[in-house]
Amino acid sequence: MRILITGGAGFLGSHLCERLLGEGHEIICLDNFFTGRKRNIAHLLNNPYFELVRHDVTEPFKFEVDQIYNLACPASPPHYQHNPIKTVKTSVMGAIHSLGLAKRTGARVFQASTSEVYGDPNVHPQPESYHGNVNPIGIRACYDEGKRCAETLFFDYHRQNQVDIRVVRIFNTYGPRMLPDDGRVVSNFIVQAIQGKDLTIYGDGSQTRSFCYVDDLIEGFIRLMNHPTLIGPVNIGNPGEFTMLELAEMVLEKIGGPSKITYLPLPGDDPKQRQPDISLAKAELHWQPSISLDQGLDATIHYFRNLLAQA
Ligand code: NAD
Ligand code: UDP
Repeated sequence: MRILITGGAGFLGSHLCERLLGEGHEIICLDNFFTGRKRNIAHLLNNPYFELVRHDVTEPFKFEVDQIYNLACPASPPHYQHNPIKTVKTSVMGAIHSLGLAKRTGARVFQASTSEVYGDPNVHPQPESYHGNVNPIGIRACYDEGKRCAETLFFDYHRQNQVDIRVVRIFNTYGPRMLPDDGRVVSNFIVQAIQGKDLTIYGDGSQTRSFCYVDDLIEGFIRLMNHPTLIGPVNIGNPGEFTMLELAEMVLEKIGGPSKITYLPLPGDDPKQRQPDISLAKAELHWQPSISLDQGLDATIHYFRNLLAQA
């Protein structure tokens, strides 16, 4: 198949490009390089079945493709809050352009949605049927509401135009190829510890997240995209739930050195807890994560040690 991946030079996108090329598909990787990097896909550039296109999804795009994965959107709070209006445009216009292309070509189209659609959840763990608790005017809204609107567009194009959609709700995912200055918690803690700096916990560190290793997530993507009938939304994530204090202690124990923990103010609307209910993915996709946080952290630490040694 010929497959378009928007945001293909980013953290998740580059792993997806690699996986699908390995399965014998032809890949068009589209990216504006806001948070994506050429180094993430440099090893793929000589492959004749890999094509890189510098383009912004807020502008229309046309390709003859069989499948579309729409991943373009900055995912880390400092990056998506850097230009919040652009973040909304990326989610909404990017969805409209991906869906328009799918409508014209008949391609199946996949949306990388997020656990952020659940906001600061009152239901725990979060099943797909939970409608969420999002502040529509807060500092996270550009991302949360942009992604919620993208889901709306996906389901309306499906109902109105019979577009063949797949929607995944991704819970916090980490691994090699996150940016060292990405701003998300796993990369922050690892980079801080390797550099001997103090680990920055926002708030008192009692808030929880459930961390999925990238390889497990990509397997879930492929299973949903190729499922004959399930359109989603489907939660994909690792139900293992940790406080930020527990995460910091794990990273410190693995890396050692002089780093300690320092506490900084909690940003606005920061969700207090998050854990995916993955019953649907287990039942329908026969998917569940296989890589523990302990194993995934080791692989991620190895990546950042090499990257920072080159810098
Ligand atoms: P990332 O920031 O590494 O990747 C996003 C990619 O999209 C980058 O390559 C960036 O340059 C590109 N991009 C951004 N705006 C663009 C635009 N206007 N036009 C073209 N390209 C653009 O983040 P990621 O973690 O790889 O996330 C990928 C997708 O998965 C995003 O849609 C994100 O919202 C979603 N997601 C990720 C997580 C996670 O934990 N990693 C969780 C929930 C949802
Ligand atoms: N966080 C933290 N220190 C950091 C970065 C993040 O304590 O250096 C906290 C953040 O406040 C949040 C959690 O870690 O409670 C996860 O943050 P991240 O940005 O990785 O993901 P999200 O909040 O979008 O789930």
